[in-house]
Amino acid sequence: MTAPLPRDPGCIFCKIAAGELPARKIHEDDELIAFYDIAPKAPIHFMLVPKEHIPSTAQFGPRHAALMGRIMLLAPKLAQEQGCAPYPEGGWRIIINTGRHGGQEVPHLHVHVLGGPRPWKWGFGPEL
Ligand code: AMP
Ligand code: ZN
Repeated sequence: MTAPLPRDPGCIFCKIAAGELPARKIHEDDELIAFYDIAPKAPIHFMLVPKEHIPSTAQFGPRHAALMGRIMLLAPKLAQEQGCAPYPEGGWRIIINTGRHGGQEVPHLHVHVLGGPRPWKWGFGPEL
């Protein structure tokens, strides 16, 4: 048996990863989950989330390289499956917010993927 993944009992994304809170899931495997953002900032807006509770990019170590590599390969695949138009006329935005100055609200690492036709209704942080 494999050891259970580290989790934070109060964390909403740990609860979504464990199936304890509902989400509009578009992908799940043993290491990660992808689901739509509850407050979308673009016509297509989902997140890729490791099941392990990693608070942010600030906690990255060498053992996270393969996981993040998988996420970065999966992001464009899911973006296209979810209806983002092809590169270069279409495309998508991939964002990882880190810490308060980085605009991070949920302290469980997540990789945002935003796409769909412009203009987007909402910005992403005051400067974008
Ligand atoms: P960040 O500011 O990068 O930490 O992004 C957190 C994101 O999580 C925001 O865009 C929220 O809309 C989103 N969010 C918060 N709670 C949920 C939830 N229960 N299901 C889906 N998305 C959520
Ligand atoms: Zn968590």
